[in-house]
Amino acid sequence: MLGSILAEKRNENNKFFLFVVDNYFKGKELAKRIPVKPEDELMFIDVDPYEPTTEQIDSIRDTILKKKGLPAGVIGIGGGSIMDIAKAVSLMFTNEGSSTLYQGLNLIKKRGIYHLGVPTISGTGAECSMTAVLTGPVKKLGLKCDWTVFDQVVLDPDLLATVPQDWWFYTGMDTYIHCIESETGRFKNAFSHAYAEESLKLCKDVFINEGCGKNAENDEKLMIASLMGGLSLTYSEVGVCHALSYGLSKILGTRHCYANCLAFNHLEDYYGDSVQEFKQMLKKHNIALPQNLSKDWTDKQITDMAEVAYNLPHMWNHAIGENWKEKITIDLIKGLYERL
Ligand code: NAD
Ligand code: ZN
Repeated sequence: MLGSILAEKRNENNKFFLFVVDNYFKGKELAKRIPVKPEDELMFIDVDPYEPTTEQIDSIRDTILKKKGLPAGVIGIGGGSIMDIAKAVSLMFTNEGSSTLYQGLNLIKKRGIYHLGVPTISGTGAECSMTAVLTGPVKKLGLKCDWTVFDQVVLDPDLLATVPQDWWFYTGMDTYIHCIESETGRFKNAFSHAYAEESLKLCKDVFINEGCGKNAENDEKLMIASLMGGLSLTYSEVGVCHALSYGLSKILGTRHCYANCLAFNHLEDYYGDSVQEFKQMLKKHNIALPQNLSKDWTDKQITDMAEVAYNLPHMWNHAIGENWKEKITIDLIKGLYERL
């Protein structure tokens, strides 16, 4: 199917595709099914242990341009990391200079090249969101604009079959947290609510209701939950948990979905019953999150994380209100990290 979708796009630019594929699939059955032609470029990318960086995106763009010029399109096959790499590279093929120049809202000047995503692990919503999150030398922040969104997405829940249990849980919880945060803040609206409500129903089927657990039927539900959760947050906003999670990722390199779980577990005063429900889901799936992590962190690390989190005003504005600076201070955020 992918082959026929791509056939009509092949004649653009220098008439070849760049495939960026999660290294997990190298040598696996899926890799043999990718419709790569001799003129195409196939890159297997190891997404562990680091999340996508600005340097990595610039390097992929420069290497391909030097070798073959401008591709007809970029195809991403993998999880949130690969989705973001494909989205960012597509934009950087047509926007000059380093991707660090474009971290933020609507800083991209030109539409990118055609890009298509095939998610292989569900939860981040990166397959439908209008941001490509990158870690740069100064900040962890997305290239966010209307052109970031994939031109096409192919959803095949069978691809989730091999996702390990822990990643299945953490990444699935990212969707759950997207919906809870989207729902509990001032940017909530009828559109974001409709998607969050449906996504949460699906998440509960996958993670807590009778018949929950990892199986083919639930993989299909999770794939749709991820998409709907991503749409919900795109038109609303994320909140306190994601702000803390960004600090953990930027300073300690903790992976996004796992960082969210670590933080959400201690945010009962912000997200009440949902945190209780989250704890039930942890128990149900035998997931043990580490405790007392902060005892091994230096005060400088905690301060640095608090500063990263504080500098995400859109999240605090959503979660706490326009006057959030009267309530949220660096010291308060440090206190939140110290709970972990
Ligand atoms: P990931 O892409 O980092 O992959 C996690 C692990 O799962 C990796 O080891 C990968 O090799 C493996 N994997 C992927 N598919 C697999 C499969 N089918 N079978 C077996 N293993 C598989 O994970 P993720 O949690 O989806 O993505 C995290 C990234 O997403 C972070 O970089 C984060 O910043 C980003 N993110 C982006 C958005 C957005 O809107 N753009 C939102 C949230 C998170
Ligand atoms: Zn998230």
